Amino acid sequence: MFSKLLIANRGEIACRIIRTARRLGIRTVAVYSDADGDALHVTLADQAVRIGPANAAESYLSIDRVIEAARAVGADAIHPGYGFLSENADFAEAVEAAGIVFVGPPPEAIRAMGLKDAAKALMEQSGVPVVPGYHGEQQDPEFLAARAAEIGYPLLIKARAGGGGKGMRRVERREDFGSALEAAQREAQGSFGDAGVLIEKYLTRPRHIEVQIFGDRHGNIVHLFERDCSLQRRHQKVIEEAPAPGMTAEVRRAMGDAAVRAAHAIGYVGAGTVEFIADVTNGLWPDQFYFMEMNTRLQVEHPVTEAVTGIDLVEWQLRVADGEPLPKKQGEIGIDGWSFEARIYAEDPTRGFLPATGRLAHLSFPDSNVRIDSGVTQGDAITPFYDPLIAKLIVHAGTRSAALARLQAALKEVRIGGTVTNLDFLIKLTDEQDFRAGRPDTGLIDRAVERLAAPNDPDDEALALAAIVSTGVLQPMTSADPWASLGYWQIWGDAHRTISIDHASGRAAVTLASRGRDQFAVRAGTSTLPVLVLERFENGARLEVAGQRRTLRFLRQGETLTLFLDGRNLVFHLPDGLAGGHGGEIADDELVAPMPGLVKMVRVGAGEAVAKGQPLVVMEAMKMELTLSASREGTVASVHVAEGTQVSEGTVLVTLSEEAAQ
Ligand code: ADP
Ligand code: ADP
Ligand code: MG
Repeated sequence: MFSKLLIANRGEIACRIIRTARRLGIRTVAVYSDADGDALHVTLADQAVRIGPANAAESYLSIDRVIEAARAVGADAIHPGYGFLSENADFAEAVEAAGIVFVGPPPEAIRAMGLKDAAKALMEQSGVPVVPGYHGEQQDPEFLAARAAEIGYPLLIKARAGGGGKGMRRVERREDFGSALEAAQREAQGSFGDAGVLIEKYLTRPRHIEVQIFGDRHGNIVHLFERDCSLQRRHQKVIEEAPAPGMTAEVRRAMGDAAVRAAHAIGYVGAGTVEFIADVTNGLWPDQFYFMEMNTRLQVEHPVTEAVTGIDLVEWQLRVADGEPLPKKQGEIGIDGWSFEARIYAEDPTRGFLPATGRLAHLSFPDSNVRIDSGVTQGDAITPFYDPLIAKLIVHAGTRSAALARLQAALKEVRIGGTVTNLDFLIKLTDEQDFRAGRPDTGLIDRAVERLAAPNDPDDEALALAAIVSTGVLQPMTSADPWASLGYWQIWGDAHRTISIDHASGRAAVTLASRGRDQFAVRAGTSTLPVLVLERFENGARLEVAGQRRTLRFLRQGETLTLFLDGRNLVFHLPDGLAGGHGGEIADDELVAPMPGLVKMVRVGAGEAVAKGQPLVVMEAMKMELTLSASREGTVASVHVAEGTQVSEGTVLVTLSEEAAQ
């Protein structure tokens, strides 16, 4: 086995790989950018090497710098993780040319699956069914429009070099094809340096079911069954599970065989995933699934497969890379129970899932019955430079319903303060009828998104408790505390005090009356609630609210207050000091960046007249392209940014002047 493994990645996946390597007695080396000097993966590794600035192109995506780092520390193997250079055949080649083992498939296998069009053609030849569509060489817009007309609408334009849902456009009507094609090509060129696209029939009720496969250097290939990743938003996975609900022995066999056939066709070695799309309009049938793409790397959602098979996939990757045969034969691999994974992100569902940043002033997870894969700890920052994933939460139980109950309970125990997250969204999603019943499909989230992403309005009780916390009386008393010697009647001057509190969807006025430090009557909304303080502890208290015992935890940071109550993470803004840090609104005269990102296109110049709704700037942030338009008619007074500039949230991009166009 290797003695020193360099992990060419960051975040949770780097941490996860380090853990297995350590268990196998392999020394580990982390690489890091300037944004990650104190990151968890750096702390966990035996050794760490700085490879460049925050910008991934000059650090985690730089082949030269990663290889230089490996040489400098004498690493004998490199694990690429997922994302970044993991599916870059040139990287795999460069690693091997440097005399270092690449923990992944041979470069030719990566190349064969790297372009979706070529991969589809190859699969067709190998007898693996593919989604009907056009995946040829020709890229002339008129030619593609003609193919689109033959395929019929709705259809999907995909970047052939795409990944992570980027460069993909769903087109409903013929008249939208031209502009969608242009947008997809531009995004593809920008993200992957290749504007090539393919067109596919859009399946109307699809499920995303993928098969984990594994090959060794001795020609053996097995599969480790399937995962269902149908719960998606913008073609990105949100909750995944294994096995797939409703899977029959017949479909499982057919899919497993097709996946193994696909892997054999390219001489696959290592861990890979063959993604299929199944049309489930009339149920799940063996003749209605199609090859979509193959990911030649470890997948984000691999832990659900680990949970049900009891196999450590990273261990297998390392053994296979070291030349060992696969540890098990097909017949020795089985499925035990059910597993779910939920991806917890720093993002704001109430604002179109905008990626968020922030310092994680509080971060705690349930400590039993759950696996947490995370690359951050309390106090760390979520920066604008990389994917805003905070953690993956994985559960495992004997049956689907037991695992689902466990997932829901575990999500409700997660407490995150210091940034907005998708936790409430995830919790609501676990309550969706079709999901609970084992009928997920890739449109499920979209159909319910308004409900799922709606702000969690605080109920009267939460408002009442927020008001009490805001006064500071729940902080534990120390004998040195001057407040302790004062009665609260005196501090407030009066028995009553009205506090106004902002929450996700508005402002509320709450009236408090107190008797001593421990007894309150609170009027919030339509309720008047008696509250008794039973016990205070650091950032929390035991209370009795209208006769019910409650444990409240909270986090106060300046004007922002987060309450952790009954599995909800409720964020409030306290009145004093007009909430800074909101940002992102498009003021009348100013076009402001709603999130950190890259300015891709500036479509106007100073002095130019613009109409209301006219696109002014195209930004790219995290995984999406965003067109920012004029909020009113006017003249461009100045443009403050150039194409290619990285901007932070709140940066003024364009200013409009008062006068209308001459
Ligand atoms: P798929 O590409 O089929 O959606 P995954 O869900 O496993 O497969 O991965 C999503 C993709 O998003 C990854 O391949 C990677 O390109 C990107 N990605 C996800 N998380 C990260 C991350 N933390 N850093 C960099 N890239 C990431
Ligand atoms: P990526 O490389 O970005 O992961 P994929 O080809 O794997 O791209 O597609 C991502 C997701 O888009 C799928 O999981 C599925 O939800 C959806 N999708 C892809 N192709 C189709 C299709 N032909 N019809 C309907 N949905 C599709
Ligand atoms: Mg995919």
